[in-house]
Amino acid sequence: MTDTYLNLVNTGFTKTLAQRLGLPRPAVLRRHRPGDPLVTGPVLVVHDAGSQAEADALAEQLLGWDLDVHRHGNRDDRFGAILVVLTGAQAPADLGAPLLTTGGVLRGLAPGGRVVTVSRAPGDAAPAVAAARQGIDGVLRSLAKELRRGATGNGIVLGDGVEIDAPSVAGTLRFLLSGRSAFVDGQLLTIGSGAGELPADWERPLEGQVAVVTGAARGIGAEIARTLARDGATVVAVDVPAAGDALAAVANEVHGSALQLDVTREDAAERITEHVRSRHGQLDLVIHNAGILRDKLLANMKPETWDPVLAVNVTAPLRITQALLDGDQLGTAPRVVCLASTSGIAGNRGQTNYAASKAGVIGMVRASASALEGAGGTINAVAPGFIETDMTARIPFATREVARRLNSLQQGGQPRDVAEAIAFLVSPQAGGVNGQVLRVCGQNMVGQ
Ligand code: NAD
Repeated sequence: MTDTYLNLVNTGFTKTLAQRLGLPRPAVLRRHRPGDPLVTGPVLVVHDAGSQAEADALAEQLLGWDLDVHRHGNRDDRFGAILVVLTGAQAPADLGAPLLTTGGVLRGLAPGGRVVTVSRAPGDAAPAVAAARQGIDGVLRSLAKELRRGATGNGIVLGDGVEIDAPSVAGTLRFLLSGRSAFVDGQLLTIGSGAGELPADWERPLEGQVAVVTGAARGIGAEIARTLARDGATVVAVDVPAAGDALAAVANEVHGSALQLDVTREDAAERITEHVRSRHGQLDLVIHNAGILRDKLLANMKPETWDPVLAVNVTAPLRITQALLDGDQLGTAPRVVCLASTSGIAGNRGQTNYAASKAGVIGMVRASASALEGAGGTINAVAPGFIETDMTARIPFATREVARRLNSLQQGGQPRDVAEAIAFLVSPQAGGVNGQVLRVCGQNMVGQ
C-alpha cells in the first residue's frame, strides 16, 4: 500500500507547496540496501565523566567498521550519528554535560541520522544511580520526538553484569545505526547477557540456518521470508491451504519450501517438524507471524469473533513453541520471534480480542525466556505499530490517515521494517537479547 501524501510532500511542485503552507512533511526514511554505508556521515561519540573507558571501547568498535569517528563536535559539524555513552552516570546531575553537548550538535544531524544512547539498567542500583539511569529513558524518548528528517533516537541498555564488549552490544548498535532500523524510534533495547556471537559476514549472518515463517503468503510474513533468505537462511514458508498459490510464489522466490498448514491445527508442530526434517534436516528459527483481526466492540463481541483471534494469534504460537521445545526439535542456538502489536501494549478501541492475543504473546515471550535460554537460544516479540499492508488497507480512509501519522516519523512503516527487526533478533549477534519486546512503530504516540 502506498502513502500518497508522503510521496506528494517529497516531490516536485507539491513539495514546494507543502513547504509554503507549513504542512507536516514526513521524510522518506533511510532504509538498508546491500552495499550502503552503515551511516551517512561521521559518528560523534560523547560520554559522561564516568564512561571514558566504555566510550573508548565503543569508538574502537566503530573504527573497526571503518566509520569516521569524532570525539568532539562543533555546531557546524554534520554528523551521520551521535553515540551518547552514559554507562558511568552516578547521579542525575551527571547527565547534563554529555546531553547538552549532544544538543549542541543536533541541528547538524544528517537526514536519516541516528542518536543512540548506551546506559545501564537501574536494576537494584542505589537510588541516585537508578534515578540517573531511569532518567536516560525519559531523555531518549523525548529526544526521539524532537528529531526531524527521518532521524531516529534509540537506546541500548546493559543488564546487570553485561560488559561493553558483549556481542549483542555491537550487534544492537550496528542494527540501530543502520537503515535496517528505519522505523524503530524512541525504543530502548536491553541486552541481558553476554551470549551470542558476531557473524563472519554481516550481510549474511543467517547462513546455514533453517527458518519457519508462519503467515508467509503475503504482507509482513512474505517480507520476513525474503529478508531472512537475503540474510542467508533457508526458509520454510507456512500459510493456510487457501493461500496456496501465493505461498508457493513466495517460497519459490526465496528458494525455500512451502508448507500449507493451518497453524491452529493440534498437530501443527508435528507437521512442521516432519516437513523440516524431510526437506531441510534441522530447524533453527521460528517466526510466529500468522495473525488475524476480527474487530468488534466488546459489547458486540461473539464467540465467532473472539475465539479465532485468540486461537491463531496466541494459542497456536504457545502450542507450537511448547511442542518444539518438549520434543527437542530445535537446533543448538534456537531463536523464536512472535508478532505482538502496539494494540497489545496500549489497547485499541474495537480490539479487545486482538489486544488480548497480542498482550498474551508478550506474556508468553517473557515467561518463555528462561526455557529458551536453557536451550541455548532466545525468544522475543516484535510489536509493529501502523504498517502499510492488506490488513491496514481495510481500515476506513479517515481513521487510516490519522493512524498512520500518529507517530514521531509521521508515516506508516513498511513490512520490510518489521522484517528487518526480526532478522536482527534471530541473528547470532542478538544472542544476548532475550524475553524482550521490540516496537517497530516510528514511536507511536500511544501507551508507553
Ligand atoms: P495479513 O493479513 O496481510 O497476513 C497474515 C497472513 O497470515 C495471511 O497470509 C494469512 O493467510 C495468514 N494466516 C492467517 N491465519 C492463519 C492460520 N490459521 N494458519 C496459517 N496462516 C494463517 O497480515 P499482516 O499485516 O502481514 O500481519 C502479520 C502479523 O503482524 C500479524 O500477526 C499481525 O497481527 C501483526 N501486526 C500487523 C500490523 C499491521 O499494521 N499490519 C500491526 C501490528 C501487528
